[in-house]
This record gives sequence, C-alpha cells and structure tokens, in this order.
Amino acid sequence: MAKKRDYYAVLGVDRNANQEDIKKAYRKLAMQYHPDRNPGDKAAEGKFKEAAEAYEVLHDPDKRKRYDMYGIEGLGGADGQGAPNFSSMEDIFSQFADIFGGGSGGSIFEGVFSSGFGQGRRAGASLKCRVNITFEESAAGATKTIELRRKEICSSCRGSGSASGTKPRNCPTCGGRGQIYRSQGFFSVAQTCPSCHGKGTTIDKPCPACGGDGRESKVVRIKVSIPAGIEDGTRLRIPDEGEPSDSGGQRGDLYCYIFVAEHDFFTRQGDDVVCQIPITFSQAALGTELEVPTLKNKARVKIPAGTQSGQVFRLRGLGFRRFRDKTEGDQIVQVVVETPKKLTQRQEELFRELAALDETYVSPQRKGFMDRWKDYFSDS
Ligand SMILES: [Zn+2]
Ligand SMILES: [Zn+2]
Repeated sequence: MAKKRDYYAVLGVDRNANQEDIKKAYRKLAMQYHPDRNPGDKAAEGKFKEAAEAYEVLHDPDKRKRYDMYGIEGLGGADGQGAPNFSSMEDIFSQFADIFGGGSGGSIFEGVFSSGFGQGRRAGASLKCRVNITFEESAAGATKTIELRRKEICSSCRGSGSASGTKPRNCPTCGGRGQIYRSQGFFSVAQTCPSCHGKGTTIDKPCPACGGDGRESKVVRIKVSIPAGIEDGTRLRIPDEGEPSDSGGQRGDLYCYIFVAEHDFFTRQGDDVVCQIPITFSQAALGTELEVPTLKNKARVKIPAGTQSGQVFRLRGLGFRRFRDKTEGDQIVQVVVETPKKLTQRQEELFRELAALDETYVSPQRKGFMDRWKDYFSDS
C-alpha cells in the first residue's frame, strides 16, 4: 500500500503546528469523513484512514520527531513498514478508543457526535401518547399541551450515572467505544458491547439518585402542534421528545396518536364534511334557502323546488384542508324530508285536500275509539 509521505499535508497543518493544531485538524477531518456520516462512501473511508494514520504519527511527540528527521523510514521497519497502516475501521476505532469513546473526558468528539456516535450508542426509547381534540380542532388545527412522564437526564449526576466525586471509566471490553467489531467473511460487523450495553463506560459507584442509570423519571409538558385537516387516528411524530439514551445516543421520538371527538351533526368523509339537514314537505316541494352551519361559520344553500329526500348539495371548498395540495374538501349537505308526526287540524285539512287532488287513497280521518267500536257492531 502506498504510504502518504507528507502527513502534514494530509492534515493540512504546517510543520510547526502544535499539538492543539494537529488535534484540531484531525478532529475536523475525522468529522468530515466519519463513516457514520458517509455510509458506503469508499473515498471518504480512505480519507478517514489517511487522516488517522497522519494523526497517529503526528500526535505522538516521539514518532513525530523521528518522522520529521527521517520521514516514514524513521518510524521503523524497512521501507516505511513501521508507518501506521490501518487495515480497517476497527483498527482506527481501537487505536483511538480514548478519542472516539464518548462520555469520558478528553474525547475530541465530545459534544459533536452527541447524537450518537457509532451504532453502539442506542437511541433513547420512543414514547407514545394520546391527544384528544374536538372535531372543530381537527378542522382548524390546534396547539395542545400534553403532560407526560418520561425519563430525563439525572440532575444529580448530569447523566453520568456516577456518584458525585466519581467518574465512569472506559469499559474494558470495548475500550469505550460502546461497540465491538466482529469479522464476518470480508466484513467487519459492529455489535453493541455486551459488557456496557453500548454505554462505553463502567460505573464503580452508582449515583444514588438514579441508581447509575443516568436518568430520572419526570413529568414534562410538551406542546403539540396539530395541523388543520388532521384525521382521527393519525400518528404525529415529534422528533427528540422521547427519552434520552442511556448511552449517549440519540433521544427517542414521541408519537402522538390523535383522537378526534365525534360531532353532534358533522361527520367526515375523506376531506369532505357531511351534515344532514331536515326540511319540511313544503320546503322540498316549493324550494327554499337554508342556512347551514359549516366548519368555520355558516353558509346559505338554495334548495330548488322539487327536491327529493336524501338529495345532496355540495358547497365547494368548505371541507377539510388537504395536506398535499393545500386545497380544501367540500361540505356535503344532505337534505332529509321530514314527515310531520303531529298535524294541526288545519294542516290535516290541507293534506287531505292535496290527497284528493292527487286522487290517492289515504287513511280515513281517525275516529275516537268509541266511534270505531260502534262502527264495528253496526257493520256486522
Ligand atoms: Zn444520577
Ligand atoms: Zn463496553
């Protein structure tokens, strides 16, 4: 393998660079070409290795001195065989375990890859919650504050899990990386460290407040913004509002399940809002204009003469907001002709006149029970 002759050029520092500059330069390159950020990118992997090799030599005052004086030959072996040559990512991670290992002090990546460095860092648990909203809120959108109990970073130990005055130390099994590499054929497969379960650290004296978990249970209030047009049963994902990881990984997410209450007279059909409006025989026959409630306000609907029971009228754009094209569904008004259950004497007279005009048979005028009783005997 061809050796990079100029480690200074690789890191982009000049020959008088101090330890801090070298560390900084390496940190920058390692972040840029880190495999977690460039999955499957062979070129990035090469750069990542190159930078590691340069750093391996230049951060060590003794090696750097020999390299400065004699070039890579100064590193020992024939023809530069003593120069670092990392054959795999595993080599790099184990070589710089103290650097890549998070949580413990001194890591040059601290705070940079806090969202989970390497697969060994498990994400925090995701949480579920139920959010009840009214039918109107599902149409207009709403902001709801929900209360839930979740684990938070322990305030006593600030998440370290160690009792005050003590510090977690690097896990001896994985060297602080939180994961171990296992060869499978040509591949090196990362696995969560079985000793520390991905934490990368061991705790000798657990924090009494959290028992070493680094997290404590708390009730928190979270604002959930519910978009207009949301449907019953929708799951809303709120990133990073789940529980914090116990191993420096990413926070879990919060999943809110939206429950929309039923409405007294509106129902939802796709993006349309549907309501039924009762009308009288005479309104159906003669036509009318109705005032109907809508999701936002009211609207007027013209009912033409001769409207049948069950007929629907569409009010364009008065339905639910659609997410995709930001248009709105319709309001569907279904009219139902109501048959009067009780008639005044005058109404009955008019209906009988109508019936006579229609030449249809209608039940005779109701008589009192005693009248019908008499009829029964006189007929027989
Ligand atoms: Zn604690
Ligand atoms: Zn471990």
